[in-house]
This record gives sequence, structure tokens and C-alpha cells, in this order.
Amino acid sequence: EESRAVDADVGSSLGDGAISAAALAKEVAKRRNFAIISHPDAGKTTLTEKLLLYGGAIHEAGAVKARRDARHATSDWMELEKQRGISITSTALVFESKGYQITLLDTPGHQDFGEDTYRTLAAADNAVMLVDAGKGLEPQTRKLFEVCRMRKLPIFTFINKMDRPALEPLELLDQIEREFGLSTYPVNWPIGSGDRFVGVYYRPRQQVHLFEKGKKHGSQEASVRVLPWGDPSLEDIIDRDLFQQLQEEIELLEELTPPLDMSKIYSGDLSPVYFGSAMNNFGVELFLESFLGYAVQPGSHKSDVGEVEPEYPHFTGFVFKLQANMDPKHRDKVAFVRVCSGQFTKGMKVQVARNGKTLTLTRPQKMFAQDRTTMETGYAGDVIGLNNPNAFCIGDTVYCGPRRTYPGIPSFSPELFSYMRNPNPSKYKQFLKGITELLGEGAVQVLYSVDTGRTDPILAAVGQLQFEVVQYRMQSEYGVETQLEPLSFSVARWVTGGWPALEKVGRIYNCATVKDQWGRPVLLFRNEWNVAQLLSEHASIGELAPYALPP
Ligand code: GDP
Repeated sequence: EESRAVDADVGSSLGDGAISAAALAKEVAKRRNFAIISHPDAGKTTLTEKLLLYGGAIHEAGAVKARRDARHATSDWMELEKQRGISITSTALVFESKGYQITLLDTPGHQDFGEDTYRTLAAADNAVMLVDAGKGLEPQTRKLFEVCRMRKLPIFTFINKMDRPALEPLELLDQIEREFGLSTYPVNWPIGSGDRFVGVYYRPRQQVHLFEKGKKHGSQEASVRVLPWGDPSLEDIIDRDLFQQLQEEIELLEELTPPLDMSKIYSGDLSPVYFGSAMNNFGVELFLESFLGYAVQPGSHKSDVGEVEPEYPHFTGFVFKLQANMDPKHRDKVAFVRVCSGQFTKGMKVQVARNGKTLTLTRPQKMFAQDRTTMETGYAGDVIGLNNPNAFCIGDTVYCGPRRTYPGIPSFSPELFSYMRNPNPSKYKQFLKGITELLGEGAVQVLYSVDTGRTDPILAAVGQLQFEVVQYRMQSEYGVETQLEPLSFSVARWVTGGWPALEKVGRIYNCATVKDQWGRPVLLFRNEWNVAQLLSEHASIGELAPYALPP
């Protein structure tokens, strides 16, 4: 029982733990928290590693991958991860750099495993959108972008792989503005691309940063030569055509882009853009420095009793992710809590808003990739890993002081549906236990048929891989061999008006009526067109929502 990090200690009195606003403000001001969103293969792993390198958290790139590999060697349910060659779980990386304490919420990039990524964004204050310069915007990025939009996160764009054949910088900016409706402000500007990507012009300081290819394939920091714009030697160093082009483009930029408006960055309407090559370390350091300066520090969170500021004297936070079996030796699960206010201290007593239970958090963890170190204190913006997830559900509020509740994290609109059958009646109990626990963990959403009377659960997911993970875990953790029967629906809509709204409409065609885990009506459609048709024929059904918050 040594490994139990949190002991339930029901009924003890709550410690005060309140701390002055000034002391809190100092801690909060140092903190920057962000997540990277991207399409698989855009270079997220590479960029993460290079940020750690320049942040001083690691001394030689390759460490993150090595950890990932080490995990593969020791973990068993991660076997699935290995087979698929992808990263399913996400972790928070914490490091200190340039006077900031930085939390990088690492999200899985695989397109089949979106739901975790969406939840992780609920804990983030800033997002870095990574774009492959050769491919431009890709579909996976759009969904993630929309979540950032919904949450009004400041979005920073890093256009990667400039060392390869790339689209024109202006075309890339235009795509972002046109397709995402996001204004852009290029903070640096590339000089050349592909083999001729020699550096960037850094607008805030009107400097040219020239890169020299490192010898160790980018495993160490690249050397950079910095010259002020206007330095006469630039004309000799940079190829004539590139130099002329740069001159023209800088003029154009200064003419076309309005001055940087910080309030528009904070509201998520304007994205500072950086060009670089993560693999070669080009532009990574500039990006880190500039990004840290522009990124927002942890802000207030809406609760049932109004906004809670990070300087509010009591500790509050919410669970945004439950993760199973990171360490197979302990069969443990970790609940990740985003701290919203106050000071978190080791051993403090907190309450869970959902059921009023009191817990003592005796061994919280700070995450650095796979290494876990015990965390002594935490402040708004930090992520803490708690080792007693059975006490928590996704979206739970934990707090000290007077009760307050943060709204839960929405379940994202599932697009894939499948009955899960247990063909072996003697395994009924294990089957039920497995489904219930995996549902609580947020591994998958579960719906039940209403109009067919069939009692098998319908798994609802954002990606096919979620089904595979559930099936794999049902077998390896609960000993139940299950069968999937895919349904041909692709759209789910919650009937906001509830059952009465549905009854008013009467019989509906071209969709199935199901209920969610809280018994609320959900309609499943084959396509968006059928949704539009229903709305036009039966306006009285009222609002149909693509997802719903827990009640
Ligand atoms: P992820 O799937 O987004 O995590 O992408 P990875 O970081 O694993 O990178 C995908 C591939 O792109 C790998 O082969 C990287 O070596 C490569 N890559 C990443 N950054 C760059 C870059 O700046 N230039 C080039 N040429 N390749 C890169």
C-alpha cells in the first residue's frame, strides 16, 4: 500500500491552507501553460523535444523519444501503443526556463484518439498550432483549432519544416486567415526555404538571425549569427535574390500588418506566427522566448458562484483526465488535476464537489515525461497527478474553503458508434464493471438504445482507436472477450429540451433514439443532412446540441 498516493480520510476537518493574494500573484505571474495542437507527423514530438532542449530541461535531444521507448519496454497495455507506433496517453511536462515555470500539456497526435486531446485543451491557457510548411493546414488541426476557438485560447502558430520544400509564407498565412478566420501576425519571417532556408528576420527587434546547421543532427543547440537589419555585411552573406526578396517582403509586411494588438492575441482572434525548422533547431529559441513573452498567465475560471481568480486564497481545481496503468507494476491510475486557484500543498485535505467527500492528498505527483517526482506545492496553471482516480470522475471539482463547482468538461461529439456485446453470460459482472470504470475514466462514451429495447451498451467514440483500446482493456484488465457490432450512424445530437421536447414531435424517421449515461435523450443520424431535415420538418423539437455537459 506504499504506492497509494491519496488516502481517503473521510470526516476529518478541513485545513485552512489559505494564502495571501500577493504571494499567490507572484507565483501565478511566473507560470505559463500550453498545449500543442497539430496533425500527426507535423513534428510535435520534435518541437516538444527542442523546446525542452532550449528550455534547459534536457541537455541532448533524443531524451523524450528514449523515455517513450523505455516505456514501451516496460508497459503491457501500452503494447497496443507499440503495435500501432503511436502515443495514446498524454502527460504534462514541466520545466523552468527564462524565469518562467512552463507546463507543456502533451497531447496524443493520432487522429483516432482525439477525445483526450480535447480534454487536455480544457486545462490549457495557451495553444501552439503546429503547421507543416509543405502541407499547410490539415484536417486534424481544424477540429482541435475549433476547440481552442470555443475556449478562446490564445493561439500561436509555428510553421515547421521550412528546411523542406514549403508553400509560400504568404499563402500559408492566407490559409490560416481564410480557412480558420484567424488573423495572423508574423513575428518572424523566413529567409528562403528548403535547402536555402538560411534564417529568419525577427520583426520585434529588426534583426536577422542566420542559422548554421549543427553537426549532431540538431541534437544540440544550433549556432545562430544575429545581425541588425541594415548591417551592410548582410548583402554579402545572403544570396542576392533572397536578400532582395526579403527586402521587398519586409516592406510589404510593415505596410500590410497592423501593429500587434495584445488584446486580440488574448481573445484568440490574432495569432502570432513563427517560421522555423524544429529538426534543425532553426527558429526554436526565438519562438520560445517570444512566445513566453506573449502567452497569457493562468487566468480566472467560471464557477457556479462566479469567476474564481488564481489569487483566490483557497485551493481549487478540476480533474481533466484520468489515465490508466502508466506503471503496470502498480496497476495504477492517475487523475490529472488542473489547479485553478490558491496554493496546493502536499498532504492537504480537499473536498470533491460532486459527492462532498474529503480526501487527503498525501503524495501528489509532478510530471516530467515518465519520471514522477513528488510535488510539494502547486499554483494556478499547474497540473498535478493524483494517484487515487477511483475517487474522481472527469470534470470533478476539488476545493478547499467554501464549496464551488466548475462546469464539467463537455464530452465531444462522437462520430463512431458500435454495440459492445459480451457473448459469455458468466462474465456479466466483469463486463459491467469494466464498462462502468472505462466510462468513468472517459475512455469512451456509452449510450443505450431506447427504441429497440436492446440492452447491450453502445460505445460512442471520436476515433476507431478508442474502441480498440476499450476492447483491449476489457480483455486484459477485466478478462472479458467482447465483440463489436458497428452501427452506421456518424452524428449524435443531444435533445436540449429533453424527453418532453421529443414527445411533442412524435415519430421521427431516419434516426435512432438513444439515451446517454444520465438518461438524457440523444438522436443518432447517418449524416448531417438528416439532422438538417429533421430540424426543418420539426422545428418544435427545439435545440439539438452536438455535445452536452454532465448534468
Ligand atoms: P509528430 O507526429 O507530430 O510528433 O511528428 P514527429 O516529431 O515525430 O516528426 C515527424 C517526422 O518529421 C519525423 O521524421 C521528424 O524527423 C520530421 N521532422 C520534424 N521536424 C522537422 C523539420 O523541421 N524538418 C524536417 N525536414 N523534418 C522534420
